[in-house]
Amino acid sequence: MALVIPPISTRTVKHLFLLFGSASNISLFFAAHSLMFGRIVVIMTTVKIEQYIRARALDLGFGAIGFARVDSSKSFHAFQEWLSRGYGAEMHYLERHAALRMDPRNLLPSAKTIVVVGARYPSAKSEDNISSHAFCRDYHDVLRDKLALLASTLEKQHGAPIESRICVDTAPLAEREWAVRAGIGWIGKQGSVVSPDLGACFFLGELLVDIELEPSAPIANLCGDCNLCGEACPNKAVLSGSQIDARRCISYLTIEHKKNFSPETSMLINGSVFGCDRCTAVCPLNRRACAPVMKEFDSPEKSMPELAECLALDRCGFKKYFGRTPVERIGLERFRRNVNVVIANTRKKMALGGQKSIVKG
Ligand code: SF4
Ligand code: SF4
Repeated sequence: MALVIPPISTRTVKHLFLLFGSASNISLFFAAHSLMFGRIVVIMTTVKIEQYIRARALDLGFGAIGFARVDSSKSFHAFQEWLSRGYGAEMHYLERHAALRMDPRNLLPSAKTIVVVGARYPSAKSEDNISSHAFCRDYHDVLRDKLALLASTLEKQHGAPIESRICVDTAPLAEREWAVRAGIGWIGKQGSVVSPDLGACFFLGELLVDIELEPSAPIANLCGDCNLCGEACPNKAVLSGSQIDARRCISYLTIEHKKNFSPETSMLINGSVFGCDRCTAVCPLNRRACAPVMKEFDSPEKSMPELAECLALDRCGFKKYFGRTPVERIGLERFRRNVNVVIANTRKKMALGGQKSIVKG
């Protein structure tokens, strides 16, 4: 819409811009002005709040954002079935808080919309013995900070206080289901959300808000006949129906599992010190992904030290090397446990192959 208004000062136009730009309830008015024949032409375009938030999310480095209307969870029974089969291993907190996952309003009673964001990290090489994001800043912190900024932008554009809650992998929320419902992607055969824009290597974060936003359209599942992720798993932990048996999954065992390993479990760890990227690294969607890698996760400066050096790290050294990374979360004791198992496995392999051990110390 274009309005031709009587001559007014540029300062007045700036005030109009500020007024429309900050006080609008659902829409944001962009005003542009130019002097034409002694008159000022003000061009006003309505931008929906969802578009504005989307632009802000991309500006913050997220590769995708979507909106889902809050409702009860549809995946709750499948989740319970997964737990009852023991696939959740020793993640007993999942059982303890299972009921809360039934409905996001258990986390924020006034919630009406879930804003879901995806933050891409670099695709890994599947043979690495440490996850590709191990040397990046801990994604929990990065996503939490950025979601807080997104919440304040949303509040500003809404023009009134909003109630919100940020979730980054720590609250009992069926985040994969909400990511699918928000149109971020679909659940791949390896059990994680995959997306045409982000590929298979990205983190999810959610913002529950008490205002209604227009829901995004879901995306069709494009896995088709592909089963590269299932074939890449060395422990056959990828099950049918996009389920994972955590008891056999290296990521779970090296990150979440708190106890010492049994001899059988030790063999499953093979050479992985922290996490495993095999089933996500092989996904062909990574090659097609066009969203940028979030700058906080791009080109981490450090690389994996020698295993013997890892064992020699004391608390101070561990903090210096892995401070503010996801490795710090598992703590020095669990990290040493993992390194010891990898060293033992490597020696066993070398002994069987009659080769000289590459592990020093
Ligand atoms: S993370 Fe590794 S062990 Fe776990 S399912 Fe994927 S490939 Fe298998
Ligand atoms: S590797 Fe293939 S089957 Fe697995 S998530 Fe990617 S596209 Fe789907």
